[in-house]
Amino acid sequence: MTDWHPDIADRIRPLNATPIGAPASCAYVLCWIQQTLRSDDNPLIDAAIDLGNRLGLPVLVYHGLREDYPHASDRLHHFILRASRDLQRECVRRGLRCVTFVDQAQTREKGLVYRLAATAAAVLTDDQPVFVARQQADNFAARCDRAVFAVDTARLVPTRVLPAGLKTTPAFRKASGALRPQYEVHRNNFVPDCPAYTGDVCFKDANLAQASNTALNDLMAHCDIDHSLPPAPDFEPSAAAARSALDGFVTDALATYPYRRNNAADKAGVSRLSPYLHFGVLGPRKMTAAVRAADVTANAKWKYLDELLTWREYFHYLAYQDDNFASFRSLPDAPRTSLEAHSSDPRPTLYALTDLVHGNTGDETWNAAQRQWLATGYMHNNLRMYWGKQIIKWTPDPETAWDTACYLNDRLALDGRDPATYGNMKWVFGMAKPAWKEQPIYGWVAPKSDRALRKRDGVVAWLAQSASRDVPQINVPDAVPTYSHAG
Ligand SMILES: Cc1cc2nc3c(=O)[nH]c(=O)nc-3n(C[C@H](O)[C@H](O)[C@H](O)COP(=O)(O)OP(=O)(O)OC[C@H]3O[C@@H](n4cnc5c(N)ncnc54)[C@H](O)[C@@H]3O)c2cc1C
Repeated sequence: MTDWHPDIADRIRPLNATPIGAPASCAYVLCWIQQTLRSDDNPLIDAAIDLGNRLGLPVLVYHGLREDYPHASDRLHHFILRASRDLQRECVRRGLRCVTFVDQAQTREKGLVYRLAATAAAVLTDDQPVFVARQQADNFAARCDRAVFAVDTARLVPTRVLPAGLKTTPAFRKASGALRPQYEVHRNNFVPDCPAYTGDVCFKDANLAQASNTALNDLMAHCDIDHSLPPAPDFEPSAAAARSALDGFVTDALATYPYRRNNAADKAGVSRLSPYLHFGVLGPRKMTAAVRAADVTANAKWKYLDELLTWREYFHYLAYQDDNFASFRSLPDAPRTSLEAHSSDPRPTLYALTDLVHGNTGDETWNAAQRQWLATGYMHNNLRMYWGKQIIKWTPDPETAWDTACYLNDRLALDGRDPATYGNMKWVFGMAKPAWKEQPIYGWVAPKSDRALRKRDGVVAWLAQSASRDVPQINVPDAVPTYSHAG
């Protein structure tokens, strides 16, 4: 029965050995969406429809939002609730029932996925290599008495078809590049044979599809989350907004991407699509198709797709090989031991966490970058490497530096808590080439100056303006949380 449609089969990974339930005793196939908050071209929904059609069962789509995930805040809840509303509306358009649950102390439901799974022939969920989704899926599959499958929704080339041991981006580029064409043309948006499921579910659907923005804000206000960090209004959390941002970028800025992408003052020079990618509101296949169809030079297409399909998917690939990808301990030995050998070197200044959070250091470039993140939920790519490198010298030791950088990134950025977060952090902490000489604090890890980034058009003025912008004063813990056991 696990004879999946060939256009979806490579994306599916069984998480346990339990056989698929007999259709006569089951009510549906459960499609448990954790992070891929889109209906269009969502391989998870397509895989569930494929199985449902073969079993003669409808698909029930479920998305639940807990209030206790790490860094839960108005910023993240605002995005997720609206994206979930959009998902529910779009599922209805595809002829699917989608139910949502928003966790709050007074209406808490225990073990909801287990209870929904009790009448399911199988459970399908998204295959994510880091943060809570990976852990939740693995725990669930180990304890649930239903067949559980993880579906690769986040990457164009499913990670499981790539050979093991790709140690560099050139090796990854070559292996992944050869496989891309076949996944670009795979069929998607499968059509369900069965009418939408109309039976009972074991809880009260939050019915987000009918909720106004005011109702969603009210719901969010009653969740026990960090209300001091406000939403990021520049990113409208819907598939239509993501699609319009993609189309606008491809039409107006893709042609100039190779030489505008490094200018931190040029808001329109990059696509700003990473938040949509992180939450799965937009998928890499649609983005690749839009880029391929654009009337721009081959070089512009290559450069953009290399960021999207090589760098981004390489970090996903690496994250799958390492259960502790988000931890300082998973940094390769050479940079880690070099940094540790300089742990007791005197630091020029040690900043309190609250000064780092609010962008109150003596470094204008750093403050501008940090305040962009705090105020908008987004930081320009060209600032991020410089931003990360400075934290190494402003914290007492390299592991605290790592935890601080990951904490700021994960808490403030809409695109944080992602394989690209920890993969890039490894670059900041010296995974790429070593420095040309050993230095205090950094050892053989290359430090970085802001000279080159300041030379670009308009950047000096932009930095001055961003470093002095108003930012929300948010709650800050006494100590930075540890990432030493993070997955
Ligand atoms: C210290 C540091 C932390 C970072 N943290 C994150 C993070 O938490 N989440 C995140 O998605 N990216 C992260 N990046 C990578 C990169 O900065 C962002 O992906 C990019 O700035 C997103 O903006 P954009 O969509 O406008 O990018 P564009 O330049 O328009 O690129 C298009 C897409 O390509 C991908 N991409 C681009 N650059 C990279 C890269 N270096 N690594 C991986 N994918 C890339 C992204 O998915 C991006 O949306 C980090 C980089 C550094 C140096």
